[in-house]
Amino acid sequence: MTNIYSNIYSFNKKILKKTVKSLKGGKIAGLPTETVYGLAGNAYSKIAVKKIFKLKKRPKKNPLIIHYCNLKNIDKDVITNENFFKLYKKFCPGPITFVLKKNKNSKISSLATANLKTVAIRFPKHKIIRSLLRSINFPLAMPSANISAGLSPVCTLDVFEEFYNKLDIIIDGGKSKIGIESTVVDLTEKPKILRPGIISQDDIKRVLKINLSKKKSKIKSPGMLKRHYSPGIPLIFSQKSKNQNHANIVFGKNHKNKANYFNLSKKGNLKEAAANLYETMRKIKKKGYKKIIVTKIPNKGPGLAINDRLKRASK
Ligand code: AMP
Ligand code: MG
Repeated sequence: MTNIYSNIYSFNKKILKKTVKSLKGGKIAGLPTETVYGLAGNAYSKIAVKKIFKLKKRPKKNPLIIHYCNLKNIDKDVITNENFFKLYKKFCPGPITFVLKKNKNSKISSLATANLKTVAIRFPKHKIIRSLLRSINFPLAMPSANISAGLSPVCTLDVFEEFYNKLDIIIDGGKSKIGIESTVVDLTEKPKILRPGIISQDDIKRVLKINLSKKKSKIKSPGMLKRHYSPGIPLIFSQKSKNQNHANIVFGKNHKNKANYFNLSKKGNLKEAAANLYETMRKIKKKGYKKIIVTKIPNKGPGLAINDRLKRASK
């Protein structure tokens, strides 16, 4: 029998070499990170970046995050500032993305940055992506490895179910520990959160020792579509449903142990809830439920990021 998962690999030296060769040749790989799995290609190659947009069916106006191993080569691509270094020192490598001004001489494909004068950069923590980034001499453009507007993947099977054998290589790095996308912070002017994540506004405020901007600006977060992270079935905020065709997503103790109840964290731990969010929604969809009912998640710390994703999933 042929193995249908023939493009999923465990990580070792041989696969590292194979992936480096593939990325150098302008191909796209499905790779693990601590936030969610990514669809990676050479950020300096228009051909590779084009493939990413096509595979994801991603709107061209939604720019990609560019990934680096460390500070070594970033000056070629972005203009850094004091706030960036403060946050880098505290949180990197880790689940935070910085929007900075693009260096005029940068080789990053303008398609990757949606023709903007800014670039979003991140330094992922997962060991596998770090050893890959160390082995290549270009940064990786890497959005989440899912068809645009859908659920982000947190394991190799999720990636496979989005792209099947259209990817040469998907590397298994286990379940993504954080489970939701990075916090995106704009540092081109008064710092501002563009997308909430596990690293919260308060965490950032504590490091920068200033209040963050609350100004709304459309152009700054072109990818923050109202409808996003969608499980493909209706999701509504409401009281629990007794209908057996409805799945209830709940949080904390004191909930029934029924087949159609899905608890993001029985302990009431918001980080655990974030890590279980996408996995739970995929599971519910696969089980054939027709609707998801969510009761409120506490709106603090990682809860803010969870509610942001749930709100967009409900549109
Ligand atoms: P994803 O790749 O799906 O995790 O989404 C990346 C997020 O980063 C989207 O919300 C983008 O709009 C945002 N982003 C990427 N590049 C920029 C940029 N240059 N300026 C502002 N936001 C950006
Ligand atoms: Mg995404």
